[in-house]
Amino acid sequence: MVDGRPGKRHAGGVRTAVPPRPARPRPGTSYRGPVGNTFGVGEQRLYLSNGGTEAFVETLMLAVSDLAEDVWDHRFAALLTLQDQNAMGRGTVGFDLTDIDWGATPRERARAKEFVLRATALAASRHRWSELGYDPPFAQEYLRRFAEMVEHFEPAGDARPTGGFPGPGDRATASCARHRILSALPHWEGCFLCIRPEPRPH
Ligand SMILES: [Zn+2]
Repeated sequence: MVDGRPGKRHAGGVRTAVPPRPARPRPGTSYRGPVGNTFGVGEQRLYLSNGGTEAFVETLMLAVSDLAEDVWDHRFAALLTLQDQNAMGRGTVGFDLTDIDWGATPRERARAKEFVLRATALAASRHRWSELGYDPPFAQEYLRRFAEMVEHFEPAGDARPTGGFPGPGDRATASCARHRILSALPHWEGCFLCIRPEPRPH
């Protein structure tokens, strides 16, 4: 796979875009596909380059892998496995907070939100970053901004998200024996480190 177009200077680029229309396709679309992904809700969006997305998702996954206890936590982990661009394609991932099934009761919703914030905070503390094999210089900023969005997001009680968020049967419960990172077997054969192509571009 050739992915070395000169002029790809988006690494680390992060901005809160206020797109006039849904996120994709966006201006950065190239013949190889979009060069970024968005995370967030409504006008509060985190637009990350493909490399930035990788850093954001992978640092969060390391934390989620260690904190996940409840069924919902593993569903959120499965959502993260769907953000793996090595499996899904470059520039094709991203999610909206309204896509997430936060729970049916205020108590469930509060607990789910608390889990995401706790995992984000742990990730931002550079938890297990030495295992990434690269240094993600902007990941703390991505995580901080994502946490801010989640913090201010109020999941609607009657919201019934359609698709996108893995159901209980699709939750990520398999922990890769080699890396101790959650994966969604049988969909993927391993965690994001297992399926990562070598060598790393970083
Ligand atoms: Zn692994």
